[in-house]
Amino acid sequence: MKTRAAVLRQAGTPWEITELELDAPKANEVLIRMEAAGLCHSDEHIRAWGAGRLPMVGGHEGAGVVEEAGPGVTRVTVGDRVACSYIPVCGKCRYCSTGKQNLCDAGKWAGVGCLQDETFRFHHDGEDFGGMCVVGSFSEYSVMSEFSCVKVEDYVPMELAALVSCGVTTGFCSSVYAGDVRVGDVVVVFGTGGVGMNAVQGAAWAGAKHVIAIDPNEWKQQQALQFGATHAFGDPDKAREILIDLTRGQLADKVICTVGEMNNDVLKAAVAMTGKAGTTVVTAVGVYDMGLERGGGLTGYHRRIQGSLFGGANPLYDIPMILSLWHEGHIKLNELITRTYTLDEINEGYHDLMEGKNIRGVVVHQH
Ligand code: NAD
Ligand code: ZN
Repeated sequence: MKTRAAVLRQAGTPWEITELELDAPKANEVLIRMEAAGLCHSDEHIRAWGAGRLPMVGGHEGAGVVEEAGPGVTRVTVGDRVACSYIPVCGKCRYCSTGKQNLCDAGKWAGVGCLQDETFRFHHDGEDFGGMCVVGSFSEYSVMSEFSCVKVEDYVPMELAALVSCGVTTGFCSSVYAGDVRVGDVVVVFGTGGVGMNAVQGAAWAGAKHVIAIDPNEWKQQQALQFGATHAFGDPDKAREILIDLTRGQLADKVICTVGEMNNDVLKAAVAMTGKAGTTVVTAVGVYDMGLERGGGLTGYHRRIQGSLFGGANPLYDIPMILSLWHEGHIKLNELITRTYTLDEINEGYHDLMEGKNIRGVVVHQH
């Protein structure tokens, strides 16, 4: 069949809308009619840096309906509404079978975008196109492994199902699992965009006493206060002053880094705000050398720096769990969507992300 998709052929060029040929699903694969796709900063990193194999169909935050199932599919059936988790869960590998589903070995093709049998389903003019994280949600239709599909309840709008397939769950779980936020903790969140706003929500829900948001964007600071932050600043030095005041110098128990692009300045400031036996969580992607100086170091304070992939979430459990928290009124999801776009407006959507206009932009596919 044919499908229209936003593709990247070369690093640094805009997303290009192209009609691709899409193969039918093979064994253990499904055809998804994609309904919504979230505009996560990670696709922008791929576009700007060209990391991974190109050409690539963009989009790893998505939700849609199962239109066709290949042989052997058992996890979902035709007609199911699914969140397309950017991390697949095979259920059998070393990591899945020891409770670390965010590290499933089936995720190894994320940057190549081929299916589990190492072949591609998207083609154009004899060329194979991968799908970002083997989801490729910037396409009207996509074929993916059943391992990537998480069924959602009928009451969940597709836009919200898309958000929990990456950004919401990554942020929320960066606080509650990677950061292990406990009742009474003091938490700092660096960067309150689509991911970080949910780190704020996660920390608040887990019982943090103070949640201090840091973001240079004033509107995001105001928004962070709506999502559960107790304080919000643009200047990290100001935040540090308040932190020292609030904790009588003990600093933060957990500092979550969800800035658009990770760098040394943020890492150093984050570690320097982390108290004794505290944890600095690094969820944001970027380049940093960890050249921490004396005094900003780890040993004297018994500090930990914790990397965070999908926040340590188990897609099969945490995606429905977070949606149920929303359904029962405990967390905000609708308010994360600042604007929706058509597929043709995708470059405008990313322009708005980089301008700081959106908490999250969402492409709503037209069928
Ligand atoms: P976003 O652009 O929506 O939000 C980033 C926010 O950081 C913005 O509000 C921006 O104003 C703020 N910011 C920029 N520089 C800052 C600084 N120096 N101090 C404080 N705030 C600053 O991006 P997003 O979609 O929320 O993604 C955030 C990061 O998380 C990206 O690097 C993305 O690639 C990464 N990510 C990681 C995972 C994972 O599993 N580890 C998953 C999704 C996204
Ligand atoms: Zn993402």
